[in-house]
Amino acid sequence: MLTLDFHPAGRHFLQIPGPSPVPDRILRAMSYPTIDHRGPEFGALGLKVLAGIKKVFKTEQPVIIYPASGTGAWEAALCNVFSPGDAVLMYETGHFATLWKKMAEALGLKPEFLGDPGIEGWRRGVQADRIEARLREDSSHAIKAVCVVHNETSTGVTSDIAAVRRAIDAAGHPALLLVDTISGLGSADYRHDEWGVDVTVSGSQKGLMLPPGISFNAVSEKAIAASKSARLPRAFWDWTEIIEMNKTGYWPYTPNTNLLYGLHEALDMILGEGLDNVFQRHQRLAAACRAAVNAWGLEIQCADPAVYSPVLTGVMTPEGFDADAIRRIIYDNFNMSLGTGLGKMKGKMFRIGHLGEANELTLMATLAGCEMGLKLAGVPIAGSGVSAAMENLMAGSIAAADRKAA
Ligand SMILES: *Cc1c(COP(=O)(O)O)cnc(C)c1O
Repeated sequence: MLTLDFHPAGRHFLQIPGPSPVPDRILRAMSYPTIDHRGPEFGALGLKVLAGIKKVFKTEQPVIIYPASGTGAWEAALCNVFSPGDAVLMYETGHFATLWKKMAEALGLKPEFLGDPGIEGWRRGVQADRIEARLREDSSHAIKAVCVVHNETSTGVTSDIAAVRRAIDAAGHPALLLVDTISGLGSADYRHDEWGVDVTVSGSQKGLMLPPGISFNAVSEKAIAASKSARLPRAFWDWTEIIEMNKTGYWPYTPNTNLLYGLHEALDMILGEGLDNVFQRHQRLAAACRAAVNAWGLEIQCADPAVYSPVLTGVMTPEGFDADAIRRIIYDNFNMSLGTGLGKMKGKMFRIGHLGEANELTLMATLAGCEMGLKLAGVPIAGSGVSAAMENLMAGSIAAADRKAA
C-alpha cells in the first residue's frame, strides 16, 4: 500500500484487533481544517468530547485525553498514582499484561506477577480468588494497587473486572484498581464507576474506530487523592493541570485537534447505535467467528467459554503449521491482514479482529479469506467454517426471530 505499484482492487481487509478499520464518516470528519486550539470553537469541541467519552467509560468522573498511543496512557496511569519502589500486584493474562509489567519495572515500581507460567495461563482470564488470597496475606498493606488487563488483545480473553473489585473488597484491602481496556472500550461492556475502578486506561484505535494517536485515563476520586502524594517524576502526563484546563474545554498544550474531530464523530456513531446494541453486535459476530473455528476443527486460544472475547478470536494452528506463514498467504492472495501471535504465542496462533465497524458481511468475508488461506497452507480442516458461521448468523437474525414469533 505504501509503494506506488501496489493497487489491489477494493478495500484492504484490516482484520487485526487494532487498529481497526476507520469508517469513512470518521475520516471525513478528521479532514476538517485544523483550528486554533485556544479559540472559542475549540473549547466547545473539547467540552463535547470530554462529556461524550464519559458515557462510553460509564463514569461521572474526569476522563483525561492524551495525544499519545495507549502505551502513553499506561505510563500516565502509573506515574500519576505511584512513588518509586511501590509494590503493585499485576496479573499475567498475556503479552500486553507482560508489557505493562515491564513498564512498571522500568519506572522503578516493584510489580509482582500472578498467573501461571507457560501458555496455559494465557488461555484464561484473571483468577480473582488468587488476587483475594494474595491481598489477604498482605496485612501491612504494602501492595499499593492491583493492575489487570480487561480485554487481553494478544489472546482473545476478557477478564471479569467486577470480580476483581469484589476480591479486593473481600480482602478488606485499600489497594487501588488499575485496568487496561485499550482494546475493550466501545466493544465490550465496561463500567468504570460501577466496578469501582480507580484508573482505566484506553486508546483510540480499537473499539472507538479512530486511527491511533489518542488515549485515555478515566480516574476516580481515590486515584486523584493518591496522585497528590505520588512521587514518580511526571510532567507531560500530570493529571492536575489537564483536569483544571479541561473544565473549559482546553488543554495545557496543543491537543490532537483532528483526532478530536474524529472522536466527536465516533461518539456520535457509538452513542447513536446505543452502547448495548454495540456490545450485542460484537457478541453476535464473535459467536459466529467461534462457530467457524469450531467447524474447522481448530482450537480457540481462550480455553474458558465464560471469558471469550467479543473483540477478537485467537485461532491456534496445529503442530507443524506456522501461523505467520498462513497469515502471509492470506495477505498476499486476498489482501487481508490478520493479527500475529505475540510473545509466547509467536507462530502458534493468528488473531481475527471483529471489532469496531465490523458487521455480518465483513465477518463473512474475513472468514472466507481465512478458510481459503488455511486450505492453501495445507492445514487439515474438518469442515467449512464459512457455512457454520452463516448458519449461526442466520439463526440469530431478525428474520429468524420474526419467523419464530409468527
Ligand atoms: C493495543 C494495546 C496496547 C498498546 O497500545 P498502543 O496504542 O499500541 O500503545 C496495550 N494494551 C492492550 C490491551 C492493547 O490492546
